[in-house]
Amino acid sequence: MAGKIKAIRGMRDILPPETSRWQAVENAAREAFRVYGYREIRLPLIERTELFARSIGTDTDIVSKEMYTFPDRHGDSLTLRPEATAAVLRAVLENGLDKAAGVKKLYTLGPMFRYERPQKGRYRQFHQINCEALGSDAPEVDAEVILLLMEILKKVHLGTNRLLVNSLGCPECQARFKAALSQFLMSREGLCEDCQRRRVTNPLRVLDCKSVHCKEILKDAPVLKDYLCPDCAAHFARVLELLSRFGVTYEEQPRLVRGLDYYTRTAFEVVAVGLGAQDAVAGGGRYNGLAQQLGGPELPAIGFAIGEDRLMEVLPENLGQDDGKKVFLAALGTSAMDKAFSLLQALRQEGIAAEMDFSGRSLKAQMSLADRLAADYTVILGDRELETGKANLRRMATGDQQEVTLSLLPMVLAGL
Ligand code: AMP
Repeated sequence: MAGKIKAIRGMRDILPPETSRWQAVENAAREAFRVYGYREIRLPLIERTELFARSIGTDTDIVSKEMYTFPDRHGDSLTLRPEATAAVLRAVLENGLDKAAGVKKLYTLGPMFRYERPQKGRYRQFHQINCEALGSDAPEVDAEVILLLMEILKKVHLGTNRLLVNSLGCPECQARFKAALSQFLMSREGLCEDCQRRRVTNPLRVLDCKSVHCKEILKDAPVLKDYLCPDCAAHFARVLELLSRFGVTYEEQPRLVRGLDYYTRTAFEVVAVGLGAQDAVAGGGRYNGLAQQLGGPELPAIGFAIGEDRLMEVLPENLGQDDGKKVFLAALGTSAMDKAFSLLQALRQEGIAAEMDFSGRSLKAQMSLADRLAADYTVILGDRELETGKANLRRMATGDQQEVTLSLLPMVLAGL
């Protein structure tokens, strides 16, 4: 016998009933996006490798070791998207969306791919909800984006969590900070091999290193906040003021840089208590220079990504499990089955979830199927019911019964 084919390591199937929880999160996000004036954009899963190399930065973990990159049949280098922001910008510029007046507010949902070592909360195909606001550098937009993120997390009943915020400054602040950081790192022994390279090529990335030893060394490192120019400092202060005004609790985290090179000014992350090592459920920030880096005009922007896989681990078990009332029609004999099929369709037309068994099994077998399907109501149809045109509608939770005229069943159930 041929061997069974399995899914690829780090890529998993998400099965029912778990999918109901995912739908609940996505529905809540869509609803929040609607209220905040965001519209959906759908993008390809594959882009030219150059898009990510140019935006995320060649010295980041993502680009240097985590991308699924392959030549297509033509020899062009393509990559399964490791994140969405660069692709959103590519699409915005390519389709001229940047030319519309005002702030361009877009969201997108879908899988991302990174060749990381799989572990709890870390997958090679994972799923994000992405939000991007393009065309404004106003601190109000930063605040709005963070408020929107926190609103989504509240809607899905995320428990204890911490919002970490920092400002990475503009390119000038970053240049001054990088010089100071690099000087500090050069004077220290014992950095990991990667960081010894990064302290020369891209010192900001050292702040993101997972090595305990590097983290220890960094405790004495200079912090970005001390290198912000007056404009960047004022921008950050206004964002924090707005967050406070709307009751959002935040923690300033002076070493938060995030794993991608394109961030400027505001950067933030939400970590959930109880998630272990991979505890960031969402992250984002401003990327004012990215459009130009991708050959476009000046287009200041900010966005965030929610990691759905991780979020699911900490959300309530019963989230989204209430999918409305369900009816099971049990039928005995060919005529009753025929009648039940008509009723089944009539119920479904009313938007009521209805099921029956087509295999002509015993009443006992049908009722145990109703149990397995967790039917809220059952109706048994036999010769007597066909003759009288009436049947008992039984509420499974209580055992209560009421006699109902069959033609009125959809109406009665709709009203329950
Ligand atoms: P990033 O695009 O790296 O800023 O990540 C944004 C969010 O996506 C993180 O906060 C995580 O929740 C999630 N995420 C990133 N990488 C993975 C992964 N390999 N597996 C599961 N979730 C991930």
